[in-house]
Amino acid sequence: MKESNFFNIFSDINLNKIKELKSRIDKIGITLSDIEEVFVKGGGKGGQKVNKTNNAVILKYIPLNIVVKCHRERKLSYNRFIALRNLVDKIEFLINKNPNHLLNIKDIKRRGVMILEGKTLAEKILEETKRKSLEFLKKKGRKPFIAIINYFENSPSSFYMNLKIKKCSNLSIDTKVYIPENKSDKKYFLSLIEKLNNDKNVDAIMVEKPLPGGFDDKEFWDLLDPSKDVDALSSRNMGKLFITRSFSDIENEKFFVPQTANAAIKLIRYHGIDVRGKNAVVVGRSAIVGKPLAVMLSLLDATVTICHSKTENLDRYLKSADVIFTAIGKARFIKADMIGENQIIIDIGTNFDENGKICGDVDFDRVKDKVKAITPVPGGVGPVTLSLLLNASVDAANMQNIL
Ligand code: NDP
Repeated sequence: MKESNFFNIFSDINLNKIKELKSRIDKIGITLSDIEEVFVKGGGKGGQKVNKTNNAVILKYIPLNIVVKCHRERKLSYNRFIALRNLVDKIEFLINKNPNHLLNIKDIKRRGVMILEGKTLAEKILEETKRKSLEFLKKKGRKPFIAIINYFENSPSSFYMNLKIKKCSNLSIDTKVYIPENKSDKKYFLSLIEKLNNDKNVDAIMVEKPLPGGFDDKEFWDLLDPSKDVDALSSRNMGKLFITRSFSDIENEKFFVPQTANAAIKLIRYHGIDVRGKNAVVVGRSAIVGKPLAVMLSLLDATVTICHSKTENLDRYLKSADVIFTAIGKARFIKADMIGENQIIIDIGTNFDENGKICGDVDFDRVKDKVKAITPVPGGVGPVTLSLLLNASVDAANMQNIL
């Protein structure tokens, strides 16, 4: 978008409104020339007057890869104005949540690094989730329902659980948290899962970690009804992923996939990253993140190497990668000298550093000077995982008994 004729472009909009928008833009420090405009025309005659709802203005803020779309039956300049205002809202939202984005924007502009933020995609998924859950409510006369089992109220994952519950309340999804009092009664835990499996009003079951000592994940994973197992812990869902022949089958066949791995894939695709034929290194081999991610990447035709705690010379593998995915669970473990130049890094790790600050597995502040693209933590894979879990829960409500 040309900076020089900013006021001319919006000449028929109230001057105060334009001035207000311009001052917001100046405050954030974004440059208009970094905004790409696309006009998608519908059936309207003449182009200037927008007659059909499929006429759209699409604006993209290149440094952060944020895209907004505006469908309106208004004059083109007004359409552009609304799209630009929405774009500014999104950038401001990101910066308010994480002031580092402002530094990132300046740094990206200097070096052309792409920050693979996940909030915009997450919001898009949540919009879709809300639409589907309202439809479900209309059809069934009740909201989709998620049962959450959480043993330890003050665990770090409780933070995410509360976030999940808060989001659900805005999405027309009901939740109930089950906090077993007796932390050593494994029988009760397993019987609670059975009870939730058999309850027709429960659509999705989530079990927050950590579990009490002596409880084994695998013992409950296969107890979960696969049609309520939205994070694909059961071998039925996991097995379906492993026997799938093409990536599109995951989208077409109705089964659940581990949502963290799914989020990492959705995020790269959203940012236009194609891993076909590329050398992808996955660090971490857990059943719920690393392994399923490696399978998904292989379905997308990447050549995949899985590294773990016994891998000798981890740096050698990291340096040879085109794209690095990390899910280790160790705060800022991957340092700048362990990676190569111009790589793409997807940091799935969600850790707390010694000051209690959330950070990834990668030493973002130093690594970002070497890479082509990188996910922030927080604000990268995390919000996408959360929104996919809620989206899958509404799908579960709609497809009960299909599996
Ligand atoms: P696990 O502890 O189950 O697995 C960690 C993996 O990392 C293991 O395979 C382990 O190897 C490997 N590992 C540990 N240390 C090293 C090392 N020094 N070098 C190489 N590999 C190592 O963790 P999860 O898979 O459950 O989670 C991983 C991270 O992802 C965590 O930070 C978690 O918080 C985060 N996470 C993020 C989510 C999101 O939405 N962003 C959702 C879920 C998890 P080995 O097998 O040899 O022990």
